[in-house]
Amino acid sequence: MLTQDPNTYKLLTPGPLTTTLTVREQMLVDRCTWDDDYKSMTEAVRAGLLKLAQVSADEYTTVLMQGSGTFGVESVLSSLPSATDSVLVLVNGAYSERMCKILDRHRVNYARLDFPWNEIPDAAAVAAFLKEHPETTHVSMVHSETTTGLLNDVEAVSRVVKAAGRIMIVDAMSSFAGVEIPVKAWGIDVIISSANKCIQGVPGFCFVIAKRSVLEASRGNARTLSLDLYDQWKTFEADRGKWRFTSPTHTVAAFAQAMKELEEEGGIAARSARYRALNARLREGMERLGFRAYIAPDHQGPIITTFFYPSEGFSFRDMYDELKREGYVIYPGKLTDQETFRLGNIGDLSMSDVERILELFERIVRCRRAA
Ligand SMILES: *Cc1c(COP(=O)(O)O)cnc(C)c1O
Repeated sequence: MLTQDPNTYKLLTPGPLTTTLTVREQMLVDRCTWDDDYKSMTEAVRAGLLKLAQVSADEYTTVLMQGSGTFGVESVLSSLPSATDSVLVLVNGAYSERMCKILDRHRVNYARLDFPWNEIPDAAAVAAFLKEHPETTHVSMVHSETTTGLLNDVEAVSRVVKAAGRIMIVDAMSSFAGVEIPVKAWGIDVIISSANKCIQGVPGFCFVIAKRSVLEASRGNARTLSLDLYDQWKTFEADRGKWRFTSPTHTVAAFAQAMKELEEEGGIAARSARYRALNARLREGMERLGFRAYIAPDHQGPIITTFFYPSEGFSFRDMYDELKREGYVIYPGKLTDQETFRLGNIGDLSMSDVERILELFERIVRCRRAA
């Protein structure tokens, strides 16, 4: 018997994720992009994001950008470095690999330091690289590697990047607002995230929080028109909240509501505590059922967990279908050399969801043993 409407299910994926009804309801209204009420909504979102990043409006600014998270990463990497600059990418997952792809595509000079995908980049190795490579102007890394669930130590890397006087860029797509990130205190110059991750909005735009001085210095460097970060910023500033091209109005309204709900929950501290508790219970419960996690506990982030298939001949598809029938959708793995699947625990989920998911997995394991 179905316990759930087959057309609705909760997402155990790291974005899009399950949003509240009140967030989705904001999308029932059509809004005018150049209307003052709408522009002030955009400005409130920009200012609110600075608060979440723990930075001041004098020193930092927010640039919203149409598109999914990758559009934000591509906007930054194709807009900031000049023709003579060089970016160092710290690679330990698919999303840092994607940064290299973007830099290749735009013919931006770069180098990469590779680390095993279940280990965090070593700050001392970054310091040594920067000492030997004076041509490096920017360092770019991912905070929460959604590929594996690993949480990188951005603070330690940032410290050595700042000590070496370089620009620090962080893709905090799946961690921003799900983990406390004191952007200025950590020495981050540019941080990127999107609407449909830990702030729990719906997809449609991403955002870049950047030091004003870094943006100012990048004028004229953009390699595309639509992803030009500097122009996008200048349009918001000149016309107080006017988007440069068509604005994702419904998504922005939903996001403004999601920010309100984040505050009502108790801010990032409370949300982070909820995610950590859900993640810890899920990981512990799954391990008890015999599912082994890919990331060691000390590097496991609170967003998503990668599990190995429990046995040879295990069918992800069957498990996916059974869970979906019960109202939850899970995520396939993203490792190329090992058979894994992933369970995200961000979004509008509670401990009762996690307990239910564990019951469902227990049933699946029991049926397999009996078969
Ligand atoms: C979600 C995500 C992105 C962006 O992916 P899109 O599919 O473009 O939204 C980038 N980096 C990380 C770490 C992510 O989790």
